[in-house]
Amino acid sequence: MENLTLNNGVQIPQLGLGVFLVEDANDLKNSIADALKDGYRHFDTAAIYHNEAGVGEALAESDVKREDLFITSKVWDSVQTYDETIAAFHESLKKLQTDYLDLYLIHWPSNGYEEKWRAMESLYNDGLIKAIGVSNFEQPQMDKLLASAKIKPMVDQVETHPYFQRKDLNAYLTDLNIAHEAWGPLGQGKSGVFTDATLTKIAADHDKSIAQVILRWHLQRNIIVIPKSVHAERIAQNIDVFDFTLSDAEMTAIAGIDKNQRGSADPNDEDWLN
Ligand code: NAD
Repeated sequence: MENLTLNNGVQIPQLGLGVFLVEDANDLKNSIADALKDGYRHFDTAAIYHNEAGVGEALAESDVKREDLFITSKVWDSVQTYDETIAAFHESLKKLQTDYLDLYLIHWPSNGYEEKWRAMESLYNDGLIKAIGVSNFEQPQMDKLLASAKIKPMVDQVETHPYFQRKDLNAYLTDLNIAHEAWGPLGQGKSGVFTDATLTKIAADHDKSIAQVILRWHLQRNIIVIPKSVHAERIAQNIDVFDFTLSDAEMTAIAGIDKNQRGSADPNDEDWLN
């Protein structure tokens, strides 16, 4: 596993397991146990996934030490004020059976995110979170946050995959030294990337799967990835991406298949900034 260093010096395993929509307790337990066995140490959950308690149980059952794990959770939109954010954080800690988080993110840039950020800064200053960040922030929301933030976010977790590459946002985040983390790194299994001709050819040339080529492409862009699967063979396959390299020509070919195809709501379409 390779680590990236965040702008505050914290090391984050560049590949982790996402658990969005994994609500069945047995699926959670089995997929986290499989992932740990395969070498995953980074797990991405959120209060709104309603599975933090299951993640906490599955991790508590393993013999991997807490300091060797990297746990991310996110504060949801229904939480708005400073005090609510502090309370929501402690609720997440309790469910996850831990006394600190490695990364805590504002899940969406809904109104009042500056106040939420002040609470995150305070939790960070108290040593309860190793790194703080945001999710689904486009440039306007990030600019607005930076205007009042005392601490610059370490991470922005945004939808990113070969049909929605986020080249401009990536350049903007890179300039700011804010790590770009991809959610939906495999296009959530519904974007069409698994039948793409360019990816099919590159996968065949490396004797790898399309999922592995996509994950490798993200890693070579210095992007953090958290692919989700509940199937043991796919969980194993998704972390088996550190033994090959895509050439510059292959990276350029993949850059060329971008369709700017967003699969989720666009924060810029809403009146988020009022
Ligand atoms: P993903 O891109 O990881 O796609 C997961 C789907 O891809 C699986 O359900 C399966 O259909 C397919 N898949 C996985 N491995 C495969 C393989 N090896 N071969 C073929 N198909 C494979 O989508 P995701 O789960 O939405 O995103 C990953 C994680 O990102 C989530 O689990 C969650 O932790 C996080 N996330 C965050 C936000 C946010 O707003 N911050 C939104 C969505 C997801």
